[in-house]
Amino acid sequence: MSSHNFEADTGKILDIVIHSLYSNKEIFLRELVSNASDAIDKLRYLSVSDKKLSDLTDAFAVTITADKRAKTLTISDNGIGMDEDEVIASLGTIARSGTKSFLEALGSQKDKKAKSKDSDNASDVSLIGQFGVGFYSAFMVADKVEVLTRKAGTNKAYLWSSDGRTGYDIEAAEKAEHGTMITLHMKKDATEFLEQVRIGHVIKTYADHISYPVNFLDGDDSTQLNSGSALWTRPKSDITDEDYESFFADMGAGYGKPLVTLHNVSEGTVSFTNLLCIPQMRPYDLFDPARKPKVKLYINRVYITDDCDALIPAWLRFVRGIVDTADIDLNVSRELLQHNKTLDRIGKAVVRRILSELKKMHDKKPEDYDALWSQFGVVLKEGMYEDADNREKLLAISRFHSSEMDGLTGLSDYVSRMKEGQDEIYYLSADTITSAEMSPHLEGFKARGIEVLYFTDPVDEFWLPLVPEFEGKSFASITKGGVDIDKFEASDDAKTDDEAPDVDKLIAAMKEALGSSVADIRISKTLTDSPACLVADEGGMDIQMQRLMKAHDPNFQDQPRILEVNPKHALVQGLNKLVTTGTDGELVNDAAFMMFEQSLILEGKPPQDVAAFSQRMTRLMTRGLKL
Ligand code: ADP
Ligand code: MG
Repeated sequence: MSSHNFEADTGKILDIVIHSLYSNKEIFLRELVSNASDAIDKLRYLSVSDKKLSDLTDAFAVTITADKRAKTLTISDNGIGMDEDEVIASLGTIARSGTKSFLEALGSQKDKKAKSKDSDNASDVSLIGQFGVGFYSAFMVADKVEVLTRKAGTNKAYLWSSDGRTGYDIEAAEKAEHGTMITLHMKKDATEFLEQVRIGHVIKTYADHISYPVNFLDGDDSTQLNSGSALWTRPKSDITDEDYESFFADMGAGYGKPLVTLHNVSEGTVSFTNLLCIPQMRPYDLFDPARKPKVKLYINRVYITDDCDALIPAWLRFVRGIVDTADIDLNVSRELLQHNKTLDRIGKAVVRRILSELKKMHDKKPEDYDALWSQFGVVLKEGMYEDADNREKLLAISRFHSSEMDGLTGLSDYVSRMKEGQDEIYYLSADTITSAEMSPHLEGFKARGIEVLYFTDPVDEFWLPLVPEFEGKSFASITKGGVDIDKFEASDDAKTDDEAPDVDKLIAAMKEALGSSVADIRISKTLTDSPACLVADEGGMDIQMQRLMKAHDPNFQDQPRILEVNPKHALVQGLNKLVTTGTDGELVNDAAFMMFEQSLILEGKPPQDVAAFSQRMTRLMTRGLKL
């Protein structure tokens, strides 16, 4: 026998599972039965190509027994089982990267809960399955867990046991059949789960959709607790919302009613069934660099893989569920699947189906759609960049914040609101909505009631260059120079009749002061309230794009930009007077830099030289106090 300590994070997870999530204890059964079903799925898949394995059994099932006297509950399956390494890797460590995210997500759930007292902890519980820590839920009800397992096709069995505190023991053992048997030594307050009625109820609630029979064995009496057929093969009219929900929870979609459920049977050039959902909340790994889609592929009800890029593109990686088809040979290897024409066709059809459902929602239930967009829009935008075939469809259902609208708005709606004579879609790139709203670049547009869209996702900089125009209108960044809004009338209260004074002398002096820090200095046509702002050259890179480049390449040099000054601003006029009278060069110099660096700060950038900035600030404050 050998003893092992849990990994540090495992201990932490256990602690949380046992102490924070106890109010919904019954889900341990769901998790263990779901693991058993996964294990049978795996064996079924392997037995297609491996004759030795296919002879092993023809009656796949999960079996539950309860011993009230010994206070033990066992859950057995005749699935794939585990060898020694797999036992250690699967039950002693949390191999997947989800651990840290789980802890973080749980933390943020708690914060949210502290703010809204009325929420229950269903959301906490939904996290367990999603993060792949399901097995540990056994310790909510048991003070000792034994896992006896034998890998199919081998003779060796192992017994893993743990009290869920510091570590686990593992030893060689005997087991007649392949598969896994989990024995829970129930805690005193969890003996209700030894009652068949209670168990039956939990299985019906959470695991009715499982594709294999879950049997309760009492002596020689066997009772099937679930329907025992794959959910998607049943007639829709027989499936309840709860069935769908627990099925999707099993697919890692979290609990609760999904935003979209798609259950269809297609017969045509390709035949397949899809049972897909768009979950309520973002999966924890939505922004994982691997961008792996998670839809599961079944061939004739045999689970094949959930790693199949041809089935669903990365920009729909938040979709969960299954696609089952009889049109692909079950013997095809997973590698060959990547180049399978039938699968490509199914994949395209699935994407079409999802997009048409989204369009329907966009048109008919705009509020629901906006809720969906705020969760997943940023990922859908990736499709506008990398999926030329679906770009138009995605553009038509894309949503943005804007300077004139409270909620989200679409591109078509924007175009329909465009001003007389406006032939471009104006947009402002920024990190957040708040910083967009504060941008001095907006001033002139707001004064004229010209709507500006806010592009706040980094991915916006990628799809934009690929979309020369929408409904015949091209896109124009208002942080690039060259936008002329003088042709639009300012609203009455923003209008000033007097001509802008000539500030050429000041501009010349500022050019000398700022030197190569800026590409040029010129009069602004858009500012009304701020003294200055930075714009990119007409042909140059947009500000946000430069920032993105910098994030990817630390050596990337910012291109010097153009500083635009507002000749109607009191500061600019005052300084111009100083320059004209030739007094106080130092003040003009300081002010030139302050205006420049303030513009940087407003964009969320640090001043060029923090020390010099601070000295100038001190000089100006000292002066201010002396007045
Ligand atoms: P997940 O199911 O999301 O992978 P779990 O914590 O539920 O996470 O299970 C961890 C791992 O333990 C599984 O991925 C699987 O490899 C292994 N495992 C758990 N139960 C069984 C079982 N009954 N048969 C075979 N392997 C199992
Ligand atoms: Mg599991």
